[in-house]
Amino acid sequence: MPTTAPITQDVLTIPRRAAPEGRMNLIGLTRAQLTDALRAIGTPERQVKMRAGQIWQWLYHWGVRDFAAMTNLAKDYRAKLAEHFVIALPQVVSRQISADGTRKYLLRIGGGHEVETVYIPEESRGTLCISSQVGCTLTCSFCHTGTQKLVRNLTAAEIVGQLMLARDDLGEWPVPGAPKNETRLVSNLVLMGMGEPLYNFDSVRDAMHVVMDHEGLSLSRRRITLSTSGVVPEIARCATEIGCLLAVSFHATTDAVRDTLVPINRKWNIATLLDALRAYPRLSNSERITFEYVMLKGVNDTDADARRLVRLIAGIPAKINLIPFNEWPGAPYERSDWARIEAFADIIHKAGYASPIRTPRGEDIMAACGQLKSETERARKSRAAIEAEARG
Ligand code: SAH
Ligand code: SF4
Repeated sequence: MPTTAPITQDVLTIPRRAAPEGRMNLIGLTRAQLTDALRAIGTPERQVKMRAGQIWQWLYHWGVRDFAAMTNLAKDYRAKLAEHFVIALPQVVSRQISADGTRKYLLRIGGGHEVETVYIPEESRGTLCISSQVGCTLTCSFCHTGTQKLVRNLTAAEIVGQLMLARDDLGEWPVPGAPKNETRLVSNLVLMGMGEPLYNFDSVRDAMHVVMDHEGLSLSRRRITLSTSGVVPEIARCATEIGCLLAVSFHATTDAVRDTLVPINRKWNIATLLDALRAYPRLSNSERITFEYVMLKGVNDTDADARRLVRLIAGIPAKINLIPFNEWPGAPYERSDWARIEAFADIIHKAGYASPIRTPRGEDIMAACGQLKSETERARKSRAAIEAEARG
């Protein structure tokens, strides 16, 4: 039986944010919510679906930020929209570009909080690593984000906004009349930035529905991967309510070690987690689960670990992604030697699993996996103050 661990869920969830003058932000609303919002300002019932579709295209296909530019809408209707709504994205505080082309954005969101987003260009694809929370309530001992005390859930607008801002920076919105650009700069999305996405499920789900919509940002569900540390009760919802691919931060092959690395293991241990993965609704060879495994010198990287890992996941369509540990100031671990990582990969590979070693990217700008941490906690405020500021 899993023991009850002292895992707190003390997270601020900010209600849907209205601008200071009470105007609602349209970004991040699902189609149904957008339709309701238009109905609420008196859009006639026979038009409301069409208007929602038009606005949706302006926002998410063309990347337009100004109601005045929505030229297929009547002028007085545009004015009415501007009276009631805003199109608001997080504010880009800084952008750093690594020697390897990785870009890290620091974004400021409501309440003065900050989160980070990372763009990783590769030859055949471009991956955007987005955050779901400011900080993280979980305290994995090898993760920089886990050392950040203050945590607040991002809204759907703040999650979708990360992709929209990256497209702004990369100049990726379509130009009217220009030939369609078939190669996308942001072709893949991973929920692997700051935070535990399954502890902010509703906003993550709504944001992914916006991102996947065919008339807008239109990213395929198979190009989106959600990474969880193992929030067992929410895992199946990833398949049934979002439909994206799943990655699990496994990192250890015994409960004793996993308890220290990924403390949520004390609540849902390895056997419980594996049961949930075996029962995963979308499990198939074409949609394998990715097991993430951070390589920590002398902690979890022996041949015996590799063999145990293979035995544990038997029967689960899986790929094992080995992540060389990325250091951060004060980190209590070291990266395993390359020869060790390769020997570990080899055992897994010989057992019939793909075992890619994740190349660390953007290390010079602290953008690699597990290095993200914003300075928000320095300006720590009371819960009430944060909520008040976020509401405007
Ligand atoms: N909270 C989610 C997603 C964010 S972390 C989760 O834990 O799955 C994305 C991946 O980076 C996870 O597998 C995480 O365990 C790993 N990671 C965290 N810190 C790391 C570090 N310092 N070096 C390498 N990988 C790290
Ligand atoms: Fe949170 Fe994931 Fe970091 Fe663990 S690894 S502290 S769950 S962000």
